[in-house]
Amino acid sequence: MEQHFECLPPGEALEKLLEMHDTDPVFLSVTHPINSDGRFFRKRSHAILDALDGCRARKVMEENVSLAERYMEKHGGEAYYLFVSVPHDLFLAVTAPPEIKEPRMVADTSPYIRDLAEAVDDWEPYLLVFVEEGDSVVEIVDMGRWVSEEKVVDEIMNRHRKGGMSQRRFQRLREEAVHRHLVSVAEAVKEAVADSGAKRLIIAGPGESKKEFLKVLPADLKNRVVGVVDTDALHHGFERDRGDEQVLDIFLKSEFAEENRVVQKLARAIMEGGGVYGGKDVARAVVEGRVSLLVVLHGTTMVGWRCENCGMIGAGTGIGPGEQTGVCPVCGSAVVRVDLVEECVEEALKMGGGVEFVHDSPYLEKLGGMAGFLRY
Ligand SMILES: [Zn+2]
Repeated sequence: MEQHFECLPPGEALEKLLEMHDTDPVFLSVTHPINSDGRFFRKRSHAILDALDGCRARKVMEENVSLAERYMEKHGGEAYYLFVSVPHDLFLAVTAPPEIKEPRMVADTSPYIRDLAEAVDDWEPYLLVFVEEGDSVVEIVDMGRWVSEEKVVDEIMNRHRKGGMSQRRFQRLREEAVHRHLVSVAEAVKEAVADSGAKRLIIAGPGESKKEFLKVLPADLKNRVVGVVDTDALHHGFERDRGDEQVLDIFLKSEFAEENRVVQKLARAIMEGGGVYGGKDVARAVVEGRVSLLVVLHGTTMVGWRCENCGMIGAGTGIGPGEQTGVCPVCGSAVVRVDLVEECVEEALKMGGGVEFVHDSPYLEKLGGMAGFLRY
């Protein structure tokens, strides 16, 4: 029988996945960009199963892999994250941004959440507001996709007056009607912001209405406007229009600007003793719940260890001089090798902290690619 995969919004999925853990590597996590090469995943699944030869988790992983492969066969042209674990009854698919490029397949004792967490940070929801006289649309864009739209339609009289009315009176009535429409659009924007948590707005549309709209937008919403796009197309044709690229460009620029601001604040925090950097110190602060915001340079990995017994993590191999295997300094159990960055991302989120992924920063690179703001 076909396995049904649950489809959750990214934030909810992340919360659910952070709760899941096992002593055996029974979780399979997949990052699937649009039109991924199937050979990559076949090669990875062979490598994963070979590595589990002789382990009790192998049988489970075979089932996970075959369920994931069946899903991927059916959804080759889509971008998504997949999380599979038969013993944990986990069959979860999360829509990914169309722009993600790097495929991944990982088997571990917990779901690999870094790619999803990075997308949630990079592609946070924003509003695209098409303003036209009498015919506007407020679009919520999440993970780079249009997820819901609210149409605001009002009857606005034709530009040319009909007989009987003075030109001045006609003009005034018309301006009032346009104004009322723009106020309704602002209302719809307010609601959409409340629904989606969007911190950014992009305004688009033909003509002068956009300027008028900015005048009626309350200050707290106006502060969120990161760009205005002039289009001659009607909003209906916009999605496939080159206007789309302009919107994407504005959005990404505002995200990169936000990342730069965070890095500047980080530099100040580190100077003043309110920040931490380097695998060893960051890992300790994260485990102690002292990191309010973890800052990670895109693509950074670090050698680390994790104790499957007590959950302790640390930098390095965990193997001391003359020792064969690593031993947890807290409980004395054997430790396993992990990517310390993934572990820190997981721990920071579990502890209620945030994670900011940064795309380009020579400063953060000098710090080793991972740092954090301390709560105290
Ligand atoms: Zn331990």
